[in-house]
Parts: sequence; C-alpha cells; structure tokens
Amino acid sequence: MRRIAVLTSGGDAPGMNAAIRAVVRTAIYRKLEVYGVLQGYEGLMDGAFQRLEPRDVGGIIHRGGTVLRTARSERFKTEEGLLAAISSMEKAEIDGLVVIGGDGSFKGAWELHRRGVPVVGIPGTIDNDVVGTDETIGYDTALNTALEAVKKLRDTASSHDRLFIVEVMGREAGFLALNVAVASGAEFVVVPERKFDIGFLCDRLHQSRKSGKQHSLIIVAEGAMSAVEMKARLQDTGGYDAKVTVLGYIQRGGSPTSFDTILASRLGSFAVERLLEGDRGIMVGTVCHGMKASPLKSSWEGRKPLNPELVELVDKLSI
Ligand code: ATP
Repeated sequence: MRRIAVLTSGGDAPGMNAAIRAVVRTAIYRKLEVYGVLQGYEGLMDGAFQRLEPRDVGGIIHRGGTVLRTARSERFKTEEGLLAAISSMEKAEIDGLVVIGGDGSFKGAWELHRRGVPVVGIPGTIDNDVVGTDETIGYDTALNTALEAVKKLRDTASSHDRLFIVEVMGREAGFLALNVAVASGAEFVVVPERKFDIGFLCDRLHQSRKSGKQHSLIIVAEGAMSAVEMKARLQDTGGYDAKVTVLGYIQRGGSPTSFDTILASRLGSFAVERLLEGDRGIMVGTVCHGMKASPLKSSWEGRKPLNPELVELVDKLSI
C-alpha cells in the first residue's frame, strides 16, 4: 500500500478534525502518501482529492466541524455513483480509504469494500448509535453542549415554577437524551427505544407536584416525538402548560471535549494501522477502553442497546 485517502461523511461531529489529523500523521509516519477527499462521497465521485502533509493538519485538533467538509449524497447510493467513486480512486492511484462517519456512511463504505476497495471506518456521529464501539466521536461533546444548555434552562424553570420540555438530537437513538436526562437530573426522558405513555407521564407529574416539586424537566429525543407535540399532548391530557426549547444544531458544534479529542486521535491512528495490517471492510472502535476492530456490517445490523441501569436511574432519582 502506497497511497491512502480519508473523508468525512454524514453529519459533522466535534472531533472529526482530530481524527483526520491522526489519520494523516500516522499514514505519513508509516511512509504512506495521504490525500483528503473534499465533501465526503460527493468528492470521492468527483475526484476532489487534496494531498495532505503533516503541517496541513496543524492547528485543527481542537476545532469543531470538519476541515474536509462533509455531505450526504444520494448519487453515491446508485451503482453509477459507486463506480464513479471507484474509477476516480483508481485514476488517482489510491489504494485504501478511511471513512469517518456514522452507520449510513459505513453502508456506503461497505458497498465500496464489496467492490474490492480496501476501506476502514471510524465512527464519528453525535448520536452514538454505532454498534461495535462504546462511544462514537462527537457524542461526548454533544452531551456536554446539551447539558450546559439544560442547566441554564433549569435555572429559569426553578425560578418560575415551570415545566420545561427540551428536545435534543437523536433520530433513531436515545443515547444523548438519556444521558442528558441523567446528568441534568431531569424528571422524565422520552426516547425512540421505549414506548411512551402520556397518561403515565401526567400521573408522574401530578405525583411530583403533590410531593412539593414546583418545577419539572422533560428531555425528548427528536426521533421519539417533537417537543411541540409533547407540549400539546401534555396540555390535552393533563392540562399542563409547558415551555418548549429545541436545542437543534448547536449540539453539533464547538470544540471537542478532551474525551472526544483523545478518542478521535486513537481511532484515527488505529484505522491506518489496521489498513496496513491488511484488515478490510472493518470499522475501528473502543470497547471497555481497549481498541477493537469489527466488521463494518455489524455496525448497523442489530441495535446498540440503551443502558437499562441508566433508564431506571432517571425514574429512581426523579421522585
Ligand atoms: P449521522 O449519524 O451523523 O447522520 P451517517 O453517516 O449515518 O451520519 P447518513 O446520511 O445516513 O449519515 O449517510 C451518509 C451518506 O452515506 C449518505 O448520504 C450516502 O451517500 C451514504 N450511504 C448511506 N447509505 C448508503 C447505502 N446503502 N449505499 C451507499 N451509500 C450509502
């Protein structure tokens, strides 16, 4: 192997730059040439490659977003798009590819692997919904960003005896919502993985008011229900007047936490080492703090479970 490329795909996540830096520098340390692909699979199809040297990735380790930019691409999902990507890699004589993204990006990487492209994935998404790694790059930063916002809302909620609903990101998975709920001391959490019962929630709110609680906080994952819908249902069923906050894209931004920066650096470097060792069609991750490689396919087959202990903790500690 002489020349590899790296791209970021799907939603951006804090720590992607630290992963790019680690891929580039490990590759050069191992005497490989390395190219950055601009705008994910779109750039791969269009041959948007840029040679990267160690100094080109200086000063990016603490920056949010991705210097390579990212994209979602429908064109790449077609046979024509996949063949265009393979052809532009062949033309540029690129022998291996590192894909930083979520499980959707890994499905694309798998399609390349099936057609003979040596590819390794690095999990980068704030959703943490990738099987095969305990945490994905960006999740810890998003958790802390959301928590900071919720702590500010709590000040207002407690000063005005208010019921607040906060909507956090998570289309398919409730990791962010559940962990924000535990860390902020929320009274209730609604996640896509669990059935929601409005009657049960109204009973809980009624009980907590009776026990002297003047304010309550409900965290909702966007994929379970919108905060606006939750407000309407609380009004209809229990007569509650809730204030709504949707955190939105601020959860994706900002400088990565030390946890994400270290995770990204480790995974970026490990991905290149695995590629050099001859691993193909895999993703790298950390399991119980150790580095682990697993088949790309297992990243989306099956569902990463929420920790039941945390689910119970929200209920237990909100009395
Ligand atoms: P996030 O978790 O932040 O949303 P993601 O990687 O899961 O990140 P997706 O939008 O699901 O984001 O996927 C990113 C891109 O991967 C898609 O726009 C598409 O180009 C490619 N992709 C997804 N699924 C496939 C597939 N089945 N075949 C080929 N390419 C795919």
